[in-house]
Amino acid sequence: MHFNGPIVRPQTDADSLFIEVTVGCTHNSCTFCNFYDGYRFSVAPISQIREDLEEAKAVYPRVRKIWANGGNPYALATDKLAEIGKLIKEYYPESRISTYARVDDLTRKTVEEMRYLKECGWEDLVVGFETGDDTSLRYVNKGYTAADILLGCTRLEQAGVDYRMIFLGGLAGKGKCEQSARTTAELLNKLHPYIMYLNSVSILPGTELYEDKAKGLFQEAGERELVLEFATLLENMNNDIYIFAAPNTTPFSFFMDLQPNKGKIVSEMRAYADKMSARDEKMSAQQRSMRRSV
Ligand code: SF4
Repeated sequence: MHFNGPIVRPQTDADSLFIEVTVGCTHNSCTFCNFYDGYRFSVAPISQIREDLEEAKAVYPRVRKIWANGGNPYALATDKLAEIGKLIKEYYPESRISTYARVDDLTRKTVEEMRYLKECGWEDLVVGFETGDDTSLRYVNKGYTAADILLGCTRLEQAGVDYRMIFLGGLAGKGKCEQSARTTAELLNKLHPYIMYLNSVSILPGTELYEDKAKGLFQEAGERELVLEFATLLENMNNDIYIFAAPNTTPFSFFMDLQPNKGKIVSEMRAYADKMSARDEKMSAQQRSMRRSV
């Protein structure tokens, strides 16, 4: 198998067959991210994808889930994506293909293109939208606005494409996370992703956000504030959605249907925040700073 860049995928897709489709990210400029440092965006040659599928098929004749690897393969031109989707389906017609998309990959495609791509196998996208707060989006240089998130995801819904979203807590900075969570919930209540992943930002050496923090330009939220941000976000969401939280990105571990469980999980989060001592906050912050993911 060819992997010319890192394999990055949601926790729930760890059991998928990974096929390299692109390397790197077209944007590669979010100030907190170092996933693809040193990798220029490139597309895997069709011959390489075919070779990998041949190799995989010999070992795994039937595969249910395929993760099309790369920072944002959905950025590719519609014709190219169609060709790749059809190729994967030639080997694994029964599989579900999932991949990452940036919001601007969505706003650059029409509903008709998305519908056609779904027919070619691109039926499940993961969108790292991070937050619905425009100030934070601008500050970390995401390259799109909350209005773009609404536009792009609404197009996916019109095309009948399933999608999941990734929330990144802490981007608003100290003292601003709960308001940012309320703004994000307002946006999410207009959308219908089927899973949302709760993540929190780790300020990693070598990133611009790390430099900002060192210069005092960005004040990192404490662990208690991060937990309250999650609680406020979930409390204000009316979506029929599953929420995934993993212990490597939050102090919690659950995968739950939000609405029937909202009261319970929000109370548990608030109780957890209330009993956090200064020592707990320090330890939790240390653990988070050691994480290698954003
Ligand atoms: S966070 Fe996502 S969009 Fe931003 S640079 Fe990293 S991979 Fe690219």
